[in-house]
Amino acid sequence: MAACDTKTATTGETANSSVTVEAAPTDAAAAETSGTRATATDEANATPAPAPGSIPASKTGDAAAILARPQVPILCYHQIRDWTARDSKGAKDYITPIATFKAHIKMLADSGYHTISPDQLYAYMTTGAKLPSKPVMLTFDDTDLDQFTIARPTLEQYGYKAMYFVMTVSLGRPHYMTKAMVKQLSDEGNVIGSHTWDHHNVKKYQGKDWETQIDKPTKTLEEITGKKITYFAYPFGLWNTQAFPELKKRGFVAAFSLAEKRDQQDPLFTIRRIIASGYWTPKTLRNNIVQSF
Ligand SMILES: [Zn+2]
Repeated sequence: MAACDTKTATTGETANSSVTVEAAPTDAAAAETSGTRATATDEANATPAPAPGSIPASKTGDAAAILARPQVPILCYHQIRDWTARDSKGAKDYITPIATFKAHIKMLADSGYHTISPDQLYAYMTTGAKLPSKPVMLTFDDTDLDQFTIARPTLEQYGYKAMYFVMTVSLGRPHYMTKAMVKQLSDEGNVIGSHTWDHHNVKKYQGKDWETQIDKPTKTLEEITGKKITYFAYPFGLWNTQAFPELKKRGFVAAFSLAEKRDQQDPLFTIRRIIASGYWTPKTLRNNIVQSF
């Protein structure tokens, strides 16, 4: 995965045409241990997942057990808006036109997919807890306003919930969500995660960076939501193993990357997602879900 060093703080992945499109998800998927589809049961729909902290250590599997379980498909969206003449070819992977987004979500619903929460995912990964049939997790990065104005009502139509990875520097700025919107998403049963303060690459943190990029944003998000923030998404999907202990000692229980291979020792801190590209038809999305996870 290429570095995206030139990206500016406030504009999200889409702003810079040098941002490299993720490697074809199938490459990463091929490198992973394959398995059968996730365990399915509709009963699991009704059962709330235990909070990660309430799962006794004696019940959680080791890395090998986690890696052996089939992966749950996790989709990552950024902006949801129609393309303009200024959008670069590369940026369009990160900008899903409104009708395309609605068609993606409709396809998921028509195909019988159930959205799951990160706590459900965590319980499944660590203990093998049952999931609803055809589980999928929807995630939205970078705090874009259209995630509230477009994605939220669309998901609501289907009873879907999502995870929103917020970078706190953007809160309240034009074209980004406000604190009140983030609180509303949280109150409505979606989960808020941290996506740093201003989207700097975790691999380059030193000294005070951990405080600026992780500690302060966590505090801000906890104040907004009134809930503990325990899930993290790496900016640009970039991580290194040195980041894991730093995140763990700050109370994070899992972290999400993008399509590349999971860490074999710490799969909970390299949970894979694919970017649901703005170019993808519902059929392409469905094929990628099946091939990548
Ligand atoms: Zn991001």
